[in-house]
Amino acid sequence: MVEEQRYWDTETETMSRDKLLEYQWSKLLPQLRYAYNNAPYYRRSFEEAGVKIDDIKKVEDYYERVPFLSKTQIIENQRTNPPFGDLLAVKPEDLSRIYIAPGPLVLSFTKGEYDVLTAMIAKVFYMCGVQGRDIVNVTTGYHWVIAGTVIDEAFRKIGCAVMPGGPGMSKMHIEMMKLVKVTVLMGFTMFVLQLAETAKEMGIDPSEELSLRLLVVAGDVRTENTKGKLEKTFGAEVREAYGTADLGLIAAECPEGGGMHLYEEILVEVIDPKTGKQVPFGEGGEIVASDIVRKAMPIIRYRTGDITEGLNLEPCPCGRSTPRLKRILGRNSDIAKVKGMFINPSEIESVIKRHPELGRFQIIVDRPKLLDELAIKIEFNKTVDKEKMEGFLVNELKEVIRLKSNVVLVEEGTIPQDAGVLDDRRKV
Ligand SMILES: [Zn+2]
Repeated sequence: MVEEQRYWDTETETMSRDKLLEYQWSKLLPQLRYAYNNAPYYRRSFEEAGVKIDDIKKVEDYYERVPFLSKTQIIENQRTNPPFGDLLAVKPEDLSRIYIAPGPLVLSFTKGEYDVLTAMIAKVFYMCGVQGRDIVNVTTGYHWVIAGTVIDEAFRKIGCAVMPGGPGMSKMHIEMMKLVKVTVLMGFTMFVLQLAETAKEMGIDPSEELSLRLLVVAGDVRTENTKGKLEKTFGAEVREAYGTADLGLIAAECPEGGGMHLYEEILVEVIDPKTGKQVPFGEGGEIVASDIVRKAMPIIRYRTGDITEGLNLEPCPCGRSTPRLKRILGRNSDIAKVKGMFINPSEIESVIKRHPELGRFQIIVDRPKLLDELAIKIEFNKTVDKEKMEGFLVNELKEVIRLKSNVVLVEEGTIPQDAGVLDDRRKV
């Protein structure tokens, strides 16, 4: 890749909006057929919705008739038919990467699509302003989940030198970024804010003593002034990126801002989460996406549960033609995202059910300062050694949800009957 080049792939990035829609549809229709013919799940879901694949002839048919896919449906499908469910469209021996998203949800990729996926992410990071001479610290998780390794691979495709820092160990991040003169930091917003705090505690001014010139931040609900705060603290430009644990990254900012450009390879629509109908162009709602390149486990009309302010359809001065995704406002489901991880109440329930002396429970998510806190209130109905049981449950739950929670045992009847299983107290 020549660094001076303005676009990663001029042809796809700068085609006219009409051409772009044509291009996406020319890829999506064969992808729908591929999913229908190779993943039994899709054939069944189409049949249950009374839709035949031949009924889908134009993009309007897709929007009106193709059934949605939800995270819960994937989890249930894989639970019934482990490990891949019948969403798998290739033979298991053709797989090259397997990731575990919280749920648990098994995400699989062939080598071919993994290469395509990482090239797509490379294109997006290049758009953010990352260059081949950059030294990058990737702070997203490398274990189990999709984020770390694909992001790492994408930066290396641009030609960067990558330091696989991963999450946690904030102090070491600051020390190593200073030592190695890291120029680009990639991470979840909350962790990057945490790094700013850590640097402050260490008496280090990141804008003076680190060599960062660019931050690519993803995930987590953020307030509008977060970006400005990060820019000032680190003395670096900040680009936001958006992705999900199942789809990977699907949008990111170019230097012009005004929202995050969508990928050409992912068809995004915005729906009213209550009615499931598309909202008028530009209006806010839930993000629904179809990936047009996935082979092992096609993802068609996936309801992300994330609520956006809408799509910015104005032409962007950078010359790229995809619409820009405006701010992500929060989650629309009972699956809370805590510290970048999804917390599925049924996973927590499965642990609690192992203990007959435990009863109803409630998940409380809060963000008293910068970091998310997860508390689980559980009713007990027999005499238990409270402290011992709480300690035991913290460990047992951590095995399943991969996050440390604060377990509080309360007497039976303490949790109000009308209380929801999830109480998310975080302010958007
Ligand atoms: Zn742009």
